[in-house]
Amino acid sequence: MAAQKKRNSTNMSQNFKIVTVIGSGTMGNGICHVFAQNGYEVHMMDIKQDALDRAIATIGKNMDRQVTKGTLTADAKNEAMGRITTFTNMLDAVKDADLVVEAATENIDLKINIFKQLDEHCPAHCILATNTSSISITRIGSHTKRPGQVIGMHFFNPVPVMKLIEVINGYGTTADITNTIVALAESLGKVPCVVNDYPGFISNRILMPMINEAVLALQEGVAGIKEIDDIMKLGMAHPMGPLQLADFIGLDTCYSIMHVLHMGFGNQKYAPATLLANMVQAGYLGVKSGEGFYKYSAGSKELVVSERFATRK
Ligand code: NAD
Repeated sequence: MAAQKKRNSTNMSQNFKIVTVIGSGTMGNGICHVFAQNGYEVHMMDIKQDALDRAIATIGKNMDRQVTKGTLTADAKNEAMGRITTFTNMLDAVKDADLVVEAATENIDLKINIFKQLDEHCPAHCILATNTSSISITRIGSHTKRPGQVIGMHFFNPVPVMKLIEVINGYGTTADITNTIVALAESLGKVPCVVNDYPGFISNRILMPMINEAVLALQEGVAGIKEIDDIMKLGMAHPMGPLQLADFIGLDTCYSIMHVLHMGFGNQKYAPATLLANMVQAGYLGVKSGEGFYKYSAGSKELVVSERFATRK
């Protein structure tokens, strides 16, 4: 109800010029791509230089694909790439920012620490958004002196392709900030859906227990990886099976989201599958580490079940 009420108040227009994205991994590079393509000056910040280098290469490759398809001109690509500056120092990256979108690793302590620093170093007018999949916006905002300007801006993977942005109101987020972010999302060609702040919001409260259930079914030997994914693809018209999707999202991220649901609702039905926990502990994180339920090799689109599961029924 609160989300609905906020949509009805006057829309505040805000002139965003510099958008800083914290974290340049799977999601951060896509978020930078979309803002740069839409004319914003983008400051892309990561603590790891190699993550920034990989992100620039990925954005360039993805924009080249758009040029080949004819959805972006070569000049527009070069201009967009020219609007992205990389930083390993947070202060330099945020001191002139109008909007920050935090897309660092899904870890509550890490995010609280980042938001404390953002609050200290960003200009007073700057809106602080987080791309978190599940962590409480209210809790993150409570560690800043501007909880009214803290909001969830949850993009989906791959960001340049996926239309949805789940906009999450923290308990203290003001209506003007919500409306500003809704308008911004629309100006990026995305479709915003406004929701309230409960563990996993809407998207991951529904998606992640399904993925976890698929891992439990595999763990119990009910079926193999291919069978589980084929059943959901062919029977339920899902474009990707839940285990392939888990690999695509990152098993560490899936595990963290289940943990947040488990703790947040205090209900055993959200306990992360032991197999998921083991795979994360062992470093099998999916696409980003080269192996999860499937094995990934550069340049190949073939879906190959990981050898570790090949002998399992
Ligand atoms: P990722 O592991 O691919 O990338 C995280 C990046 O954050 C890494 O490059 C890491 O070096 C960087 N980082 C860590 N600590 C940092 C710090 N203090 N300052 C700056 N950078 C730091 O993770 P991801 O999949 O891109 O997820 C990022 C966020 O987006 C998470 O909150 C996740 O829940 C959310 N999300 C992920 C998906 C998905 O499909 N992967 C979808 C929607 C939302």
